[in-house]
Amino acid sequence: MEPKKINAKALEKLLESLKKGEESASGIYLYKGLRIQISKYKSTSTERYMKLYRKRREAGLCIRCGEKVKDKNPRTGKLYRLCNHHRETTDKKNRPK
Ligand SMILES: [Zn+2]
Repeated sequence: MEPKKINAKALEKLLESLKKGEESASGIYLYKGLRIQISKYKSTSTERYMKLYRKRREAGLCIRCGEKVKDKNPRTGKLYRLCNHHRETTDKKNRPK
């Protein structure tokens, strides 16, 4: 990942969000030739999964495989969480017979 060049003002902003413990502060930055890395220490696999889940969900991708979801749920008008393939394999199991 390429570091993001920041100026003094951006650095101050970064410190502010860091103080608040905002996760958006994490990243790799370059300030006056110095590399600053902010990342979660010992993040658990659940946290990593949740992050991936959220990222895929926001991008409208299947949360299982990352494939683009094309169909919308007619009830909610929102895109499904899963692609066609995973919707079939997952939903059918849960459906009462
Ligand atoms: Zn899928």
